[in-house]
Amino acid sequence: MSTPLPPTTGLGSFLPLDTLFDNPVFAGGFGLGALGAAAALGRRGVVSAAGLIKRRLLVDVEISKKDESYRWILAWLSRPRPTPGFIASKLTRRHHFEMHTPPSKNNSATPYRLQPGYGRQIIRHDGAYISVERRKQNTSNHTTGEPHETLTLTTLYAQRHVFDVMFNEAYSLARAVEKDKTTMYAVEMMGWRPIGEPRNKRPLASVILDKGIKEPIVNDAKEFLASQKWYVDRGIPYRRGYLLYGPPGSGKSSFIQALAGELDFGIATINLSARGITDDLLAKLLTEAPRRSIILLEDADAAFVNRQVKGGDGYSGQTVTFSGLLNALDGVTAGEERISFLTTNHIERLDPALIRPGRVDMTVRIGEASKHQAAEMWTRFYSELDVDGSKRSRFLHRLEELGLVPCEGQPAKFRTSTAAIQGLFLFNKDNPNRAIEMVEGLIPKIYEP
Ligand code: ADP
Repeated sequence: MSTPLPPTTGLGSFLPLDTLFDNPVFAGGFGLGALGAAAALGRRGVVSAAGLIKRRLLVDVEISKKDESYRWILAWLSRPRPTPGFIASKLTRRHHFEMHTPPSKNNSATPYRLQPGYGRQIIRHDGAYISVERRKQNTSNHTTGEPHETLTLTTLYAQRHVFDVMFNEAYSLARAVEKDKTTMYAVEMMGWRPIGEPRNKRPLASVILDKGIKEPIVNDAKEFLASQKWYVDRGIPYRRGYLLYGPPGSGKSSFIQALAGELDFGIATINLSARGITDDLLAKLLTEAPRRSIILLEDADAAFVNRQVKGGDGYSGQTVTFSGLLNALDGVTAGEERISFLTTNHIERLDPALIRPGRVDMTVRIGEASKHQAAEMWTRFYSELDVDGSKRSRFLHRLEELGLVPCEGQPAKFRTSTAAIQGLFLFNKDNPNRAIEMVEGLIPKIYEP
C-alpha cells in the first residue's frame, strides 16, 4: 500500500493559485503588470548596455571655443568633401548649417562658407564615422557675454586614429590659409580678437628705411627666436622688447608688419592712448596675448602724460599709467616667447626706466625721409618709366635744392616723411615728370591764421 506524498511546501500549496489564475480579471492585471515590469527592466538593461557599449566602444573629444583649434576644426568641417557611397550618404546627410562670411576687402564675389550649425551630425572620414555635436553652453564669458560653445567629436574606439588624422589636417589647412598672411589682433570687449581676415604679408623690401636700420632689428629678432634654451637655462624671462620712435609717417608700423611677416608672426596691437585701456586690462592682455604674435604697443608716450582724460564728450576715465605699463611689461608670461614693440612720436616724453632688458632691449629712431630713402622709393615706383635713372637724379636734386633732405652734411631745412613722398608718387602714378614738378608740395605748410 502506498502512502500519499505530503504536499510540497511551495507557494502553490498555500495559495489557491489555480483559482486565482482562473479569474480572468486577475490574470489580465497580472499579465499587464508583468509585461510592464519586464519592459522597464528591459529598458534599463538597454540603457545600461548602451552606456557600457558607449564607455567601452566609443571615444570622444571635447573642444571648447576658447581653444584655438576650435576655429580650425570648424573650418575643416566646412570644406567640401568627396561624394560618399550610398549608405554613407544616407548616414551623413547634413541638414543644418551656419553661414560664415568673412569681411571682404575687395569688390569681388563675397567668399562665404557653410559651417556646421548647432546640433549633431555624422561625418565620414578616412574610413571612420564621426559624430560631431556643436553645442552652446549655459555659461558665458564674463567679459564679453558670449555663450561658451563646445564641439564634441565621438567615434569608435577602434577608429580613434581618425582624430589624429583630422586634427593634423585641420591644423595644416589653417596654416596653409594663413601661410602668406599676417593675422592682426585688436582689443575688443576686453579681450583679443582677430580683426578681419588675415592680411597678405608685407615684404620687408617694400619698407624703405635708412641704411643700417632694418637688418640689425630683423637679425636680432631672429636670433632671439632661435635662443629659447639660452634664456630658459639662465632663468631669464624669454622676451625681447623694441622701441621705435620718430615722426609719424616714417614707416614704423609698416616695418613691424613686414617683420611679423618675415618671422611668421601675427600682430596684436594695443593703443595705449585708447580709452578704456586700464593698467589691469593691459596686464591681462599681455599675459593672454595670442600665440606667435608681436605685441605692438602704440603711442607709448600716452602712459607718461597726465592720464586723467576729460574729453569734450564728457568722458573722464583713468587709462594706462607709467607704473601700469612697466608692470605689464614685467609681468609673468607663459613659457612662450614674447616680442613687443613700443612706438612713439615723442621719445622725449618717455622715462628711462623703460629702457631695461626685457622691457626695451633695442631703441631705434626711424626719422624723416633721407636722400637714400627718396632714391629707393623712386626706383620702386618708376623703374619702368625711368630706365636710365635721369629723372631720378632730377628728383633728388630738386629735393636737395628745396632743403627737403640733408645735403652735403647740412641738415634738411624742412622735414618730410616717407609717407608724404609715397603720397606724391601715388598722385602721379604714371607721370614721374609731374611728380618732379610737384616736389615743392612736400614743404610743410605753416598755418597762419
Ligand atoms: P608710422 O607708423 O611711422 O606713422 P606708417 O608705417 O603707418 O608710418 O606709414 C604710413 C604710410 O606710408 C603707409 O602706407 C606706408 O606704406 C607708407 N610709408 C611710410 N614710411 C614708409 C617707408 N619707410 N617705406 C615704405 N612705405 C612707407
